Amino acid sequence: MAAKFLRQPRLARGFTSRAVDGLSGAIGNTPLVRSHRLSEKTGCRIYGKAEFQNPGGSVKDRAALGVIEDAEARGRLKPGGTVVEGTAGNTGIGLAHVCRAKGYRCVIFMPDSQSQEKIDLLRMLGAEVHPVPAVAYENPKNYNHQARDFANTIPNAIWTDQFDNTANAEAHYRSTGPEIWEQTGGDLDGFVAATGTGGTLAGVGRYLKEKSDGNTQIWLADPPGSVLHSYVTSGGKLKERSGGSITEGIGQGRITNNLGTFVNHLSGAFHIPDEKSITMVYDLLDTEGLYLGASSALNVVAAVELAQKLGPGKSIATILCDGAYRYQSRLFSKKWLQSKGLADAIPDHLRKYAVL
Ligand code: PMP
Repeated sequence: MAAKFLRQPRLARGFTSRAVDGLSGAIGNTPLVRSHRLSEKTGCRIYGKAEFQNPGGSVKDRAALGVIEDAEARGRLKPGGTVVEGTAGNTGIGLAHVCRAKGYRCVIFMPDSQSQEKIDLLRMLGAEVHPVPAVAYENPKNYNHQARDFANTIPNAIWTDQFDNTANAEAHYRSTGPEIWEQTGGDLDGFVAATGTGGTLAGVGRYLKEKSDGNTQIWLADPPGSVLHSYVTSGGKLKERSGGSITEGIGQGRITNNLGTFVNHLSGAFHIPDEKSITMVYDLLDTEGLYLGASSALNVVAAVELAQKLGPGKSIATILCDGAYRYQSRLFSKKWLQSKGLADAIPDHLRKYAVL
């Protein structure tokens, strides 16, 4: 049975080892990794898009390049200009890389709840980092609003506005979506991913829906503390955001411009508790050698649940957003797991990986 489900997809045209132009050229064209074990377990073909292979280490490199190139094309960002963003991590890292390559000043506002490693990395990449109090979006002191206000005070500066600037989703519509379609030879029944800004889900989802004449189902994967799962499953009621998750970079309290009306085209949503996400972080390492962050693990849990929902023989893709390197002092620390009440959630045979 496995051999039938695990057949090779057609080799994608255009995916050669040609030389590319600089850092921008090295963003995207990531491998699509088939999981033999999860494919066998579900009787489906389960694929993860290896976004951790981007130069900045995450899926957000694509959005960073997309918003900067869009601003350049519109004449909003000129040589020697300044790029300002509010970000908790990966977008800032992507922007910092692209700004170095293109000669822009990069200024990042981030909540002071973020790890020192991320602040250090951004500064090493040449960004100016302003940690600000971690307050809700409604508060004018929120890091996003501070980024916008700062950009307004400087000539030739842009606030890239990753949540509501649709050049973000557009980058995924033009790159991630087409790559997944090509890499699966157009044989794709379902795509599922979590959402932070909504750029990946809506950009990829819109492309796949169009190419498949609506036949590829698009599903949302949502962590605790996000309102989107209940929004989708209650037919559009937005509740108050409460609680949190060990996953970083995903979950949302509102319908961003990037998610926009695409939210109405979703086939459904999965709520994935942290216990399942952390177990999958360890499981993917143990059985596939993949060292991935918690949002990638949550996506893989959802891909398995979607496979179970759609039934054997189907083809399902998700996003492997970034590696665990950025979070290892948390995800692989016994003490930290205990503080989150998750130490006992990890099966005995996987606990040996919690070495910190
Ligand atoms: N995973 C991680 C680790 C992220 O940093 C992000 C972006 N915040 C996402 C997933 C979600 O991507 P998007 O913003 O495109 O919804």
